[in-house]
Amino acid sequence: MPVPLLDLRAQHARIRDRVVAAMMQVVDDQAFILGKPVSDLEAHVAALSHTTYAVGCASGTDALLLSLRAVDVGAGDEVITTPFTFFATAGTIHNVGARAVFVDIDPKTFNIRPDLAAAAVTSKTKAIIPVDLFGQVASIEEVMRLAKGIPVIEDAAQSIGARRKIDGVWRMAGEVATIGTFSFFPSKNLGGYGDGGMMVTQDKALYDRLMRLRTHGSVKTYFHEEVGYNSRLDALQAAVLCAKLPFLVEWSAKRREHAAIYDAAFADLGDVTTPYVDPANESIYNQYTIRVPRRDALKAHLAAKGIGHSVYYPLPLHLQECFASLGYTQGACPESERAANEVLSLPVYPELTRAQLDDVVAAVRGFYGK
Ligand SMILES: *Cc1c(COP(=O)(O)O)cnc(C)c1O
Repeated sequence: MPVPLLDLRAQHARIRDRVVAAMMQVVDDQAFILGKPVSDLEAHVAALSHTTYAVGCASGTDALLLSLRAVDVGAGDEVITTPFTFFATAGTIHNVGARAVFVDIDPKTFNIRPDLAAAAVTSKTKAIIPVDLFGQVASIEEVMRLAKGIPVIEDAAQSIGARRKIDGVWRMAGEVATIGTFSFFPSKNLGGYGDGGMMVTQDKALYDRLMRLRTHGSVKTYFHEEVGYNSRLDALQAAVLCAKLPFLVEWSAKRREHAAIYDAAFADLGDVTTPYVDPANESIYNQYTIRVPRRDALKAHLAAKGIGHSVYYPLPLHLQECFASLGYTQGACPESERAANEVLSLPVYPELTRAQLDDVVAAVRGFYGK
C-alpha cells in the first residue's frame, strides 16, 4: 500500500463528530464573521503561546502582512529574512513595498543565522523575520538580542506549540518575538478546513493595531483611521480549530515518536543526514527532512515504491525569478542553495501506522542496498 506524505483523511476520521458538530453550530447560529469561535480560539492560542494577545486573520500569509504593517514597514524599508522558507515570508515583504534582504541559514537547523542577520542591518532595516522551519524554533533569543530593538516577526507557521529552552525556561513558538505568526493551512500541524492564520504578541499597542488592520483599519464601524485589509479568521475555521486544538500536544508527540523511529532506522546510513534538533529545542516536526547527496535518485526510488515525499524547498527565495531585481545570484546564500539540492521530507504525520513507518524505512534503506 502506498504511504502518503500526509493523510488528512486519517486525522479527520478520528475527530469527525466533534468537528462536524462545531461546524454545524456555526451554521445553525448563522454567525460566520468573527464572534465567539474566533475569540475562543484567540484565547486558546494565546494561552498555548504564553502571550497576552492573539488576533485571528485570514491566513499565515496575511498574519505576516498585517504584522509588517503593524510595525510600520513600508516603501523603501528593508526587512531581513531567510531565503530557505515558504514563499510567503518574503512575498509579504515585497507586498508592503519593502525590500527583502536575504541572509543564509545554519546548515544543521535550516534556520536563519542570527550573526548574519545582525551583520545585514542598515539604517533602513525595519524588521527581521526569522522562520521556525520544519517545526523547530529559530535562535529567537539571539535574533532578539542582536536586533537591538528592531521589531522581530517570528514566522511560526510551521511551529505552533514548539518550544525552546531559553535561560532555563521553556518559551513557546511566537512567545519571545515582537509578533509571532501562525498558519492554519490544512497541512500545518494545527490545520483548518480551509485557510486561516493568527498573530500573537505581548504588546497591547500592537494588538490594537493588528485588530484594526484586519478590519479595514477601522475600530468604529465605517470610520477608518488607516487603510487596512479584509483579513478576518472565518468563524467556521475557528470552530474547526477549537475542536482540533485539544489534540495538538498528542499529535506533536506522535510526530516526535515517528521522527525518533526514523532517526534510529537511518543511523547507519552514511549518506543520510537525519534532522538535527538543537538541544534547546523541542520540535513539532511539521516536516521530517533528511539531507542526502543523491537526492533526486532517492526521490525517484521512493516514488516507484509509493512512498510520499516532497522537497521543501527546491529553489531558495533569493534565486526566484520574481526577486531577480533584488540582484542576488547563485552563491549569495550557499547553505540555502546546498540545502535546496539535498533536502527530502518524509511522511511523519501523527496517524502513520507502524506498518507504514516500516514501509518508509524499508524503502529508504532499500535505496542504499540495506
Ligand atoms: C505555510 C507558511 C506560510 C503561509 O501560510 P498560509 O496560511 O498558507 O498563508 C508562511 N510561512 C511559512 C514558513 C509557511 O510554512
